[in-house]
Amino acid sequence: MRKLLFATNNDHKIREIQAAIGDQIGIVGLKDAGITAEIPEPYDTLEENALEKSRFIASLSGLNCFSEDTGLEVSALNGEPGVRSARYAGENRSSSDNIQKLLRELEGKQDRSARFRTVISLIWEGERFLFEGICEGHILPAEKGSGGFGYDPVFMPLGTNRSFAEMSMEEKNRYSHRKKAADKLVLFLQQQPLSPSNS
Ligand code: IMP
Repeated sequence: MRKLLFATNNDHKIREIQAAIGDQIGIVGLKDAGITAEIPEPYDTLEENALEKSRFIASLSGLNCFSEDTGLEVSALNGEPGVRSARYAGENRSSSDNIQKLLRELEGKQDRSARFRTVISLIWEGERFLFEGICEGHILPAEKGSGGFGYDPVFMPLGTNRSFAEMSMEEKNRYSHRKKAADKLVLFLQQQPLSPSNS
């Protein structure tokens, strides 16, 4: 089986991408690759952060690899928290703190539309490629469900009446931003010839 390094320590993301990609490519996270580096996320856009993470890990490991950065973009908050989604309530705060802050900011607002946007950056044979996936939906007035991670309990994708946290991973992947970006990654990889350095 072909293997590909995913520059993340987030087990949820590894499982979601592996489920999205199926069994044609084995996804290896940083821990399983024995890489313990802190990954930088210093920029103001998802694209720049994803690029930086993949470039950093590719040069550290000497391997092809990809990374992703995801943000929750809320219309009534002018696209916030966006690239700051992980630290919306402050540095080193929990997902629950981030959710509470989001619900407070949206109190009294009619428009609760929002979208998740994922950018995957792939370093492949020294070249960089970007793949984007978007999931439109809205923010619920309170948390629902206990699955998933991050903002999943308050995000309901369009076309459903359940939050991401009430869905199995397979169901989430029918709608998910990450799955849409992963599909584009897979399409790209399927078009690449196998070579000693990437097989
Ligand atoms: P990052 O891509 O790891 O920087 O994630 C940014 C923030 O969005 C973190 O707070 C994550 O928990 C959250 N997040 C990323 N992907 C998802 C998702 O699929 N569902 C819910 N929250 C997410």
